[in-house]
Amino acid sequence: YCYSICEGRTLHTPKQKTALRKTGLLTSDPRLRDCVRQMRQYTRDTFGPVMMDKKLFKRCVGNNILLLTKAFRKKFIIPDFQKFTHQINRMYDSAQQQEGGQVADYIPQLAKFSPDLWGVSLCTIDGQRHSAGDTKVPFCLQSCVKPLEYAIAVHELGSEHVHNFVGKEPSGFKFNKLSLNEEDKPHNPMVNAGAIVISSLIKPNSNKAERFDYVMEFLKSMAGTEYVGFSNATFQSERETGDRNYAIGYYLKEKKCFPDNADMIAALDFYFQLCSIEVTCESGSVMAATLANGGICPITGERVLSAEAVRNTLSLMHSCGMYDFSGQFAFHVGLPAKSGVSGAVLLVVPNVMGMMCWSPPLDRLGNSVRGIHFCQDVVSYFNFHNYDNLRHFTKKHDPRRQSDDDPFDLQYLFHVLNLLCASRFALSAVDMERTDYDSRTALHIAAAEGQVEAVIFLTEVCKVNPYMKDRWGNTPLDDLRLDLLLSYCHCHLLADVSVEVSTWFFKFIKTRIVHMSHTCEHI
Ligand code: GLU
Repeated sequence: YCYSICEGRTLHTPKQKTALRKTGLLTSDPRLRDCVRQMRQYTRDTFGPVMMDKKLFKRCVGNNILLLTKAFRKKFIIPDFQKFTHQINRMYDSAQQQEGGQVADYIPQLAKFSPDLWGVSLCTIDGQRHSAGDTKVPFCLQSCVKPLEYAIAVHELGSEHVHNFVGKEPSGFKFNKLSLNEEDKPHNPMVNAGAIVISSLIKPNSNKAERFDYVMEFLKSMAGTEYVGFSNATFQSERETGDRNYAIGYYLKEKKCFPDNADMIAALDFYFQLCSIEVTCESGSVMAATLANGGICPITGERVLSAEAVRNTLSLMHSCGMYDFSGQFAFHVGLPAKSGVSGAVLLVVPNVMGMMCWSPPLDRLGNSVRGIHFCQDVVSYFNFHNYDNLRHFTKKHDPRRQSDDDPFDLQYLFHVLNLLCASRFALSAVDMERTDYDSRTALHIAAAEGQVEAVIFLTEVCKVNPYMKDRWGNTPLDDLRLDLLLSYCHCHLLADVSVEVSTWFFKFIKTRIVHMSHTCEHI
């Protein structure tokens, strides 16, 4: 697109949207907000689709050029997103055929759901999105909140503190059994006893409302501000039917499992509230993607959880996340996941993507029938199992991007940069001092090619170090093509560029001359 526009062709806006969708980006992506707003504005002003020329294109995408470049050059983690989602849809259809299972009916808020509901959403670590089926219907997280609650506690308090109160071992018992380990701690954070104790650790000195808001805000950030709600009816029902959890609470209290001064009933109440938090498949998949992405939400770029919190959470989801099917799930699927009584399965493919599957009918162990079928299908087709060999196992498909070090990336980067003169580039989270295999930075290449706007941008805005040495020991200043810069200056700069930029440009040339004379003196 960048090339077509810059070659002087015009583009039709609806076509751009279709092209965007094929990469996996949604126009609702918060990273594209400015771009989409600008485009909408023009569409509104012209009462219909607009033909975009270079100037308009520059205005609309200037802020997002890196993201869009990555998308259209197939640099996202799943480069062929259409092919990938085609397979996902096929698996979705196959799971839909799965009959059987029982919708949980211990509270009316769960019993009301049709057994036919079935949705899957996924979000990659680059924020590529795909959804199939009933992915906009809110449902309660129930036990899927346990890993999230644990992650928040570890993020806030550190592993050591949290694990003074809870173990790390699968229990071998039902999730709601009155049982503790040999040290009289709950076996792990994924069983009720563990989650109830953890709910007493979060913001212990705040009042109940603040504590609830704190977790809600956290979850919203994980979901990239997408839907996170609360079902008060579910909360009331959980409380009314929660005898087993009250029994666990008293047992924990008797065994001194709570921190000093903790209010056991308040901890239980908080646990019931957490179970009653609602998401949709779409928002849940962004939460899972934040876990897949080391704690940074892919669609906002916000660091929500520490790397430590995410790693611990994924480890425990892997060993304890799927009730009494956890061992088999770890064996067959080999991915961290957590299921809940609402029929939700939160699945993480670390460093690739997060998924939320939801279908209310449960098997005898309490896992969603369609959810389990789908997860198994995904891993039998794609090599996502933790122990799939990525190099030698040829029978499975690897949809991931193959190589990260594209030596031409940097050059391309400022080709676009120069064309668009995107001065707000630095907003994006790219390491502008990244080097290629010759240890050359973007600044080396810009200087050598005499790309003055890129040189100015990289040094002034991005503060790239002009003294970094490549593998031959040359710095960008050594490479600076004065002839090119001067001819550029002659042709464009004086006419086109602002006073600050040209002042700066001459300063840079002066530095180069000083640098050269130093080198000469040295010789
Ligand atoms: N609210 C349920 C309970 O605590 C959660 C059940 C579940 O999803 O595992 O019993």
